[in-house]
Amino acid sequence: SAYVFHFGGGAVSSDSRAKDKTIVGGKGANLAEMAGIGLPVPPGFTISTEVCALYNENGKTFDEDLRAAVARGVSHIEAATARTFGDAANPLLVSVRSGARVSMPGMMDTVLNLGLNDATVAGLAAGSGDARFAWDSYRRFIQMYSDVVLGLDHHRFEDALEIAKEDNGFFNDVEMGAEHWQALVGEYKAIVAEELGRPFPQDVHEQLWGAIAAVFESWESDRAKVYRKLNDIPQGWGTAVNVQAMVFGNMGDTSATGVAFTRDPATGEKAYYGEWLVNAQGEDVVAGIRTPQYLTKAARERAGAKPLSMEEAMPGAYAELAAVFELLEKHYCDMQDIEFTVEKGKLFMLQTRSGKRTAKAALKMAVDMVGEGLIDEATAIRRIDPMALDQLLHPTLDPKAQRDVLARGLPASPGAASGAVVFDADTAQTLAERGDAVILVRVETSPEDIHGMHAAKGILTARGGMTSHAAVVARGMGRPCVSGASALSIDMATRTARIGSREVKEGDVITLDGSNGDVMAGKVPTVEPELVGDFGTLMEWADKHRRMKVRTNAETPLDCQVARQFGAEGIGLCRTEHMFFEAGRISAVRQMILADDEAGRRAALAKLLPEQRSDFQSIFEVMAGLPVTIRLLDPPLHEFLPHGDAEFAELAEATGLGVDHLKRRAGELHEFNPMLGHRGCRLGITFPEIYEMQARAIFEAACDVADQSGDAPIPEVMIPLVATRRELEILRALVDRVAVEVFAEKGRMLEYMVGTMIELPRAALMAGEIAEEAKFFSFGTNDLTQTTLGVSRDDAARFLNPYVDQGIYPRDPFVSLDIEGVGQLVELAAERGRSTRPHLKLGICGEHGGDPASIAFCEKTGLDYVSASPYRVPIARLAAAQAAL
Ligand code: ADP
Ligand code: MG
Ligand code: MG
Repeated sequence: SAYVFHFGGGAVSSDSRAKDKTIVGGKGANLAEMAGIGLPVPPGFTISTEVCALYNENGKTFDEDLRAAVARGVSHIEAATARTFGDAANPLLVSVRSGARVSMPGMMDTVLNLGLNDATVAGLAAGSGDARFAWDSYRRFIQMYSDVVLGLDHHRFEDALEIAKEDNGFFNDVEMGAEHWQALVGEYKAIVAEELGRPFPQDVHEQLWGAIAAVFESWESDRAKVYRKLNDIPQGWGTAVNVQAMVFGNMGDTSATGVAFTRDPATGEKAYYGEWLVNAQGEDVVAGIRTPQYLTKAARERAGAKPLSMEEAMPGAYAELAAVFELLEKHYCDMQDIEFTVEKGKLFMLQTRSGKRTAKAALKMAVDMVGEGLIDEATAIRRIDPMALDQLLHPTLDPKAQRDVLARGLPASPGAASGAVVFDADTAQTLAERGDAVILVRVETSPEDIHGMHAAKGILTARGGMTSHAAVVARGMGRPCVSGASALSIDMATRTARIGSREVKEGDVITLDGSNGDVMAGKVPTVEPELVGDFGTLMEWADKHRRMKVRTNAETPLDCQVARQFGAEGIGLCRTEHMFFEAGRISAVRQMILADDEAGRRAALAKLLPEQRSDFQSIFEVMAGLPVTIRLLDPPLHEFLPHGDAEFAELAEATGLGVDHLKRRAGELHEFNPMLGHRGCRLGITFPEIYEMQARAIFEAACDVADQSGDAPIPEVMIPLVATRRELEILRALVDRVAVEVFAEKGRMLEYMVGTMIELPRAALMAGEIAEEAKFFSFGTNDLTQTTLGVSRDDAARFLNPYVDQGIYPRDPFVSLDIEGVGQLVELAAERGRSTRPHLKLGICGEHGGDPASIAFCEKTGLDYVSASPYRVPIARLAAAQAAL
């Protein structure tokens, strides 16, 4: 069939689709790949992702072709294992596993030991000579199948197990013998019959089809949908289903199961890393039922743990596993995340995939692998998700700060986070939406908590190891996480926790250090990050491969300094309005705005000139000879007006004008729609003295800095909100005139440019004409998006989310450029502008300048630079390199 692919047991498929992730999902593709290179993979088959969509669209039914193909798949496994599905004497058991193109929490949990019933359990016992193992497998199967396929609450089963242990005086599952498991199976079946009104399915084919249907249906579950939305995974992909012969890690002390990474996923260190459990099955390692053991001797010793590592306890199987690690890394040229089982000393591979990793680990591995000759620089650049760098660009805990340590858990995902304690995902989300920093504190997490983990600044769990759900998801999301803090206990009834010897209430602030596992009381101070080591190396490679320059949007000397440290090659947008708000200045600004005439305005502007000049001086000094684009005053004047009687009274005193008079003037400035009102270049046209003052401040500062240092600043004066050529013509003449005046006074000339922001559709359309007056364009895509979509960005929050949910816009157009629509205007303006001025300099200074998808568009459009906020500069450098490759 076109829809079912066999793997293992000597199956050789010539169909290229058999190893194509889009067809058989990531898990299926890699199982086929591993089997193909001769690794011990239990035989099985994969039902393709296409069937998922068909099934969910066609009223949830399977057609005859598929039934026949699945029957052939089962025969393939039967032949390879010499067992028969449903046979009472020699039964074949299988696992049923979901597997989308990308690994996806929220999908159906795997069902193990499928094919067991009252008859086959006896065959399994006889065949293995181990009745305890057989009944243990059966009770696991009933519980799992009931939970994930039949939709019954797992608590009833867990409670029944607890009671059974209590009745027998046992503490641990391992104390349960065959007869105890057998009795429990009886109870489990009774629970199912009672809850469902019909017995647990004994027909193995009914079991199989039930599990297959459940996998496909789980694609539509709410959890899966939330995850897809957060990760931009298309609904249409669907999941595959893998059916695979069981191998047993629960056949006594020579059997085991485990998970491993070929390198440390938290630090990137080249050392095997993983966890395993003797005499256990499947999810036991990640579920936190028993504490998993270390894989390697070195890791065990470092942690000071007692239970033997796999390296020590099963040296043969371990050596085999280590050889597989080496082989897989060479084969995939990447760090692998591996699941394995040892059955009576024999190793089986159950999964491999490129492992999730922290940003820090991603950098280290990429740089190391280039060094090892495993990959080239371009691959290393492509492999890092630019947005993941964000994790490294934020402050870490100040090493000199006092730490009030409450407890220590496992360093599951690095980075530091402070926030208010919350005990459930919904509360985390609600508080985070309100703008609060929260730490999600749970006994352990499950896929149901995804939205809360996403909302939280950090995650703390009481149970679970380094490969627990919390740890894996947190690393993927870049959230700091401390897992397995056994000194933590939570009382949900009173919404309090004990951490070590102290009580913590919901809302109390704690700090996590995901790099060493510390849980601390209160908020611990942080320090700025630096681009050194692997980060620096990768950035150098990125710089070598990119064409576009990367500038920053900054308006204070401090921001400029940060941006330069992050590699900014100039300022793409220095807004001047914030400088007007600074203490001591706002009064002069208000006097200027409320003055009755030009003379009054000039008097107030004269007070602002030296202030503004010194602002520009310090910025030019920091930027040492790099280009600095300064935007002249842009916002509507009413934004600077006094609020409330006290401010009016203060202003009255400063100006000697009456409060009533001032209030009347303020009233005259009222606008109904200020964002489309008296702002931008319209201010310069009507009150030229404002722009004159700003231009003078810029040129005087530039001359002074040029005199003092060798690096002559390169000011680029930018006129905002231009719609017509004439506006720019008038204002450019004004700026040029001031420049001539200042240069004459200072007795020196400086290179400078006058250009404009393209942020109105008319400006984009008329770009050919406007370019005759402009040496550069900077696409102000925030306003251009607002004016093109007719969407007010200050009011969009109310409806943009539902818009994105319904696919009206694929992403928030203020975050990621609407390439289809707004992008056309950018392309058109670039083309028309360059047609009249071939060397027109083009850049982008909206928020989009720091968004990788938008940066790729800018590269395609041939812009000269992107400009991003300081902390986004390294992200932009990497994204620009990826776009150029
Ligand atoms: P997930 O995607 O949640 O990791 P998997 O399908 O990989 O789910 O299954 C989880 C675990 O179940 C595996 O890591 C493995 O330990 C166990 N498992 C799955 N299939 C088999 C099998 N055929 N034999 C033994 N164990 C299995
Ligand atoms: Mg798995
Ligand atoms: Mg604007």
